[in-house]
Amino acid sequence: PQTSWTDVICEGPDKNRPKLVFVNRSLTLENIKCYGFDMDYTLAVYKSPEYESLGFELLRDRLVSIGYPHELLGYTYDPTFPTRGLVYDTRYGNLLKIDSNGNILVCTHGFEYLRGGQVDEYYPNKFIQRDDTDRFYVLNTLFNLSETYLYACLVDYFTRSTRYKNCQKGFKHGDLFMSHRSMFQDVRDAMDHLHDTVTIFILTKFMVLFTLLYLYVPRLPVLLSRIKEFAKVFLATNSDFNYTEAIMKYLLDFPSGSKNPKKPWRSYFDLVVVDTRKPLFFAGGTVLRQVDTDTGKLRIGTYTGELQHGTVYSGGSSDIVCDLLDVRGKDILYVGDHIFGDILKSKKRQGWKTFLVVPELVKELQVWADKASEHLDSGSQECPDISAIQNRIKMVTYGMDLCYGKMGSLLRCGSTKTLFASQLLRYADIYSTCCLNLLNYPFSYLFRAPLVLVNLSWLTRLEYNCFVLIININI
Ligand SMILES: [Mg+2]
Repeated sequence: PQTSWTDVICEGPDKNRPKLVFVNRSLTLENIKCYGFDMDYTLAVYKSPEYESLGFELLRDRLVSIGYPHELLGYTYDPTFPTRGLVYDTRYGNLLKIDSNGNILVCTHGFEYLRGGQVDEYYPNKFIQRDDTDRFYVLNTLFNLSETYLYACLVDYFTRSTRYKNCQKGFKHGDLFMSHRSMFQDVRDAMDHLHDTVTIFILTKFMVLFTLLYLYVPRLPVLLSRIKEFAKVFLATNSDFNYTEAIMKYLLDFPSGSKNPKKPWRSYFDLVVVDTRKPLFFAGGTVLRQVDTDTGKLRIGTYTGELQHGTVYSGGSSDIVCDLLDVRGKDILYVGDHIFGDILKSKKRQGWKTFLVVPELVKELQVWADKASEHLDSGSQECPDISAIQNRIKMVTYGMDLCYGKMGSLLRCGSTKTLFASQLLRYADIYSTCCLNLLNYPFSYLFRAPLVLVNLSWLTRLEYNCFVLIININI
């Protein structure tokens, strides 16, 4: 059965919650003078898979409302199918799992898994130029999971439909040509519509119902209060003010009478910036404006004054944040869930220390733990049959891949690391299932990176970190 990460993260410390923070590069918490947080999927943990399921339904319904066939309403969200970090090929409508060099590890057309020869027909050498961002779209965020599943549903529907003729770049019906490219554009537009319109109101309402993370929520103010005792804290979110206000109020403004004293949510932060437009925020950024917190409207002109406590700002850039808080990039630990927008860009462009939140690690670690007892051991056979062992390894890795979900692990395919895993190792200094795991370490802690010998590079740091040796070949 699928394990929902929210179930595990939010069950509290007694339920074998993965409490560890894993380390790629050594990091001394004592030297961190400022902690930055993303909001969505970082501070705000949405209940999964209910949240993705709702997102899928809203997207699907939006497509039908703009003219897509009603039969699409027959599709419901399957959380076992999508994995984060897949690449959508807007030319052929395929979903691809790739490594950091662009080699294809898994390829599906709709829900059909393409085999070696079929993949070669689309992609000679089973390789893509992943720099071609106009054609290849990386579905990097947890928000993209429902969208990923929708692409598979669309291809599946039109491929099966007898009304449409299958072509390489789309589907034909009379004079009408539905290209994969145009469907991609329609889904992207539907995503924007979802974020910009009334659905935000609906999501906010649903979220309160769906994300009643009763053990998670009380511990969040504890973390933020403890950090604020000796470091600065800021929030930098791409969401707008109204949405941020609704979510943060839910997370931090408790009704009086609860265990935590009531404090307005903004008092937990030295600086709150909404509409940050990350990754642009880490480069040139946009104009910094003040938000009128009564109306949610932006004040005209560019804000040039000193930092005012409790004020909410819109836009700006990472440089402006450093100026306002009077900190340098290397003094900041930024916590986010978006490998590209939060982590890669803040590390690469600004040299910030980075903490990647990877809720899927709950599942990844569970599969490791469950399967770690499966030893391949040739025992005392005098002439071990290597090919039999290799076949067994293949079967075990294939079996393990399936345990993660239909598109396999977020981090690997067999023994090959995915693009996501490569970026995680390169750009995230530390990573964990949830930002609350910082509560398990004193703020003077030294996160020490494991020593890795270069000639042992076939064992990745992830495996070291998990202290799990995959297969114990004892020949
Ligand atoms: Mg986020």
